Amino acid sequence: PVAPPPGTPPDGRDAPVVLVDMQDVTALRRSEQMRVDFVANVSHELRTPLTSLSGFIETLRGPARDDAQARDHFLAIMQEQSERMFRLINDLLSLSRIELDEHSRPQKEVDLTDLLRRLIEMLALKAKQANVRVESDWPDDLPPVRGDADQLFQVFQNLLDNAIKYGAKGERVLVRVSRKERRRVSVDIVDFGPGIPREHIPRLTERFYRVDAARSRELGGTGLGLAIVKHIVNRHRGRLNVTSEIGRGSTFSVTLPLIESIQESQDSAEMPA
Ligand code: ADP
Repeated sequence: PVAPPPGTPPDGRDAPVVLVDMQDVTALRRSEQMRVDFVANVSHELRTPLTSLSGFIETLRGPARDDAQARDHFLAIMQEQSERMFRLINDLLSLSRIELDEHSRPQKEVDLTDLLRRLIEMLALKAKQANVRVESDWPDDLPPVRGDADQLFQVFQNLLDNAIKYGAKGERVLVRVSRKERRRVSVDIVDFGPGIPREHIPRLTERFYRVDAARSRELGGTGLGLAIVKHIVNRHRGRLNVTSEIGRGSTFSVTLPLIESIQESQDSAEMPA
């Protein structure tokens, strides 16, 4: 007879303890690997602009010392690179702050239409420079959502900023809000750009994942925007959904529960059986 695997109890039942241990080890290795990859990515992302900065400093102290025109040009690049490092560090700080309170649900009432109106105003100049027209469409009587206004602003800022950056020039970007089954609201950011190949979509919210890394960097991206979006949406018990068609464009939808639906479910939970 074949000997039972080690850990099998004498009565032949499965040994669940061994199985749980194995899963824990796998999960632990995976999270350790993710941490190592993350540190490597951050180091690489910071090292690139730093290398460029120290190269330009050397040039400015040496060969370009007396060349006023070259100096202006190099200083402009250096400013761009240091702004890039700031953006990266700000995004990293946002991410770690959001992760820290991901399990506490934000409680304030947020007026989404007011928030979106402010956001569109803030990005108007950027849209104009990119030759993109931002259009909006939402109902007048939208009830509030429960959340953190600054974090929700960040969500839609990242999504609208991406739609402007990666959308098609001379085309429009649509910010559309609609109610879903009475209890939820969906905010869709729609662009008519080149779209995203299907195989990339499940990975878009990974930190530093980019479909076209060179293009993202050229446009000032940190590769962290959608990771931040995902964490904030999770904290709000919402959902992020991405649909895209090559050559036609992409839609990033965030669905959030409305306050009145939260109220209703609390009321019904309190009702006697
Ligand atoms: P980034 O700072 O690079 O924009 P994000 O996390 O915001 O980082 O987005 C990750 C990647 O997803 C981007 O680099 C880009 O390749 C792709 N992406 C995001 N939004 C869009 C969009 N609206 N259209 C096409 N590609 C997009």
